Amino acid sequence: MPQIIDGKRISQEIKDELRDKVAALKEQGKEIALAVIQVGEDPASSVYVRNKKRACEYIGIKSLSYEVPESTTQEELLAIIDECNKNPECNGILVQLPVPKHIDEDTIIRAIDPKKDVDGFHPMSVGALTIGEPGFVSCTPAGIIQLLKRSGISIEGKECVVVGRSNIVGKPMALLLLRENGTVTICHSRTKDLREVTKRADILIAAIGKPKFFDASYVKEGAVVIDVGIHRNENNKLCGDVDYDDVAPHCSAITPVPGGVGPMTIAMLMNNCVESAEMFGE
Ligand code: NDP
Repeated sequence: MPQIIDGKRISQEIKDELRDKVAALKEQGKEIALAVIQVGEDPASSVYVRNKKRACEYIGIKSLSYEVPESTTQEELLAIIDECNKNPECNGILVQLPVPKHIDEDTIIRAIDPKKDVDGFHPMSVGALTIGEPGFVSCTPAGIIQLLKRSGISIEGKECVVVGRSNIVGKPMALLLLRENGTVTICHSRTKDLREVTKRADILIAAIGKPKFFDASYVKEGAVVIDVGIHRNENNKLCGDVDYDDVAPHCSAITPVPGGVGPMTIAMLMNNCVESAEMFGE
């Protein structure tokens, strides 16, 4: 049987460590605050925002809540971000994506002060990651590195294959694995003979957004498989990009969905927020 990588347990471990850190910072008179900005009432976004605020409360981070209507203009949203950029009490700024269509996502991301860019999406943060300088890292891939490390899985020298090249998952994932001295290949929708490439992987990261796409024929015997996908099937049950039942018997370790990568994203957001306060807080 493979090792089941328990994201619920590991994310809880990280949140508990952060809670202790935040309590110690409070004793030194340092309060931490995260601005959580949501435009409109998209139900999925509302769930994410609620969960992020809950995590803040658990850890002892104050959340500065901005819930503004769908009709909010880009200028109005930029004014809120500017206010948060200037607010010395605010350590991190999170704009829940996607924003409504009349607002340009890139303009919003670029407006956030890189010192408060706890999502790690600003070009300055991405550039820092690329050249190996300190900066905030996108939360989902950062969480995957923690899952691997805290499960005792070494990355150095391993053949790592990342399937998916989005700016928030695939690309930063590949850079982080490279930083950990993995040998990294990135695949995408134009990759020829995907199976042949993924079959080489010691560590396979599946992040394409297609339910149960990867069956056992994509996986090398004994590989570590990390499933980033989240989907709801026709029975409202969650599943990932990996056909878990088919793939698990062939792996040395695998993340389940739910309870694998998912819980790590919020834990790493909290981590970035605490790091921001430690590095730049007044
Ligand atoms: P995107 O849709 O932005 O990117 C998907 C990537 O997969 C693209 O690079 C695309 O290639 C590639 N791709 C699509 N189909 C194939 C295929 N058949 N073969 C090879 N490559 C393919 O998705 P995200 O990166 O944002 O998210 C990926 C998944 O992860 C989604 O299911 C999402 O819900 C989930 N997710 C989970 C999170 C979590 O916290 N657990 C957080 C973020 C995302 P190309 O570039 O050529 O189009």
